[in-house]
Amino acid sequence: MKYDLHAHSYYSDGDLSPQELVALAVEKEITHLALTDHDTVVGIDQATAASNEAGIELIPGVEFSCSWRGQLLHVLGLNIEAQHDAIKQGEQTNKQLRLKRAEAMHEDFIKHGIDLRDEVAALVSSQGVPTRPHFAQALINKELVKNKNQAFKRYLVRGKPGFIPMEWPELDTIAQWITASGGVAVLAHPMRYKFTRTKLIRLIHDMQDCGINALEVTTPVTLPQQSKMLAELCIEFDLLASTGSDFHSPAQPWAKLGSATPLAAELQPVWSAF
Ligand code: AMP
Ligand code: MN
Ligand code: MN
Ligand code: MN
Repeated sequence: MKYDLHAHSYYSDGDLSPQELVALAVEKEITHLALTDHDTVVGIDQATAASNEAGIELIPGVEFSCSWRGQLLHVLGLNIEAQHDAIKQGEQTNKQLRLKRAEAMHEDFIKHGIDLRDEVAALVSSQGVPTRPHFAQALINKELVKNKNQAFKRYLVRGKPGFIPMEWPELDTIAQWITASGGVAVLAHPMRYKFTRTKLIRLIHDMQDCGINALEVTTPVTLPQQSKMLAELCIEFDLLASTGSDFHSPAQPWAKLGSATPLAAELQPVWSAF
């Protein structure tokens, strides 16, 4: 068994179609793959069909953006029922926020003399959602920056052109969308937020109050020491553990599909709740 429970397609900010993603998973000998696009489940049916054909297991998923005490968090919904009303409502809510933000970003770029409308429109998949990486790629295509890292330094972040502050739904709201659909909610990449241990524990308490009982313990960019600390928190707070690459593109060598370290044997894996 090889699990990768965090991956994106071109319906959000990934480069591959769901079919190409599944083909790559087969190549990497992944037996259980979750498609977790940002704020959309539009690729799930295609990924499921391709997985059935290839003989691997597709876990329907999503990565919702939300707010917790004023901070942006990403929460994965795994093993969701993609057609459930609660998920559809979540998708609709966050997609509308993304469309509104994209419009405000365009207006802000125009104020700075940069028109990205055509470039971005050509990059965003018609049924998918607009993301900041689409704007980063548009800036690269216009030769205003050399790469995405530079795009996220000079633009798109607080204080820079193209940054629009967001009010995402609260943590308890997105927890409800996921659990109502029969899914398991998982805090994505817990080390990314750069919280102190005390703050992370405060978050875990708030998560548990709204029915979120899982952490993503291993990812390709989580250091062994960090995964050890997260594993200890899983045991202390009786949390399920997840593993995923957060794969976006074959062009990102630091996050290859299937490259997260497998979970330690003493952890309760998130798939025990599927
Ligand atoms: P959004 O959810 O549209 O605000 O975009 C957030 C996404 O941007 C994340 O999920 C990452 O995939 C990507 N991202 C954030 N910072 C960077 C960066 N410095 N370089 C490349 N991609 C980034
Ligand atoms: Mn992303
Ligand atoms: Mn994320
Ligand atoms: Mn992700």
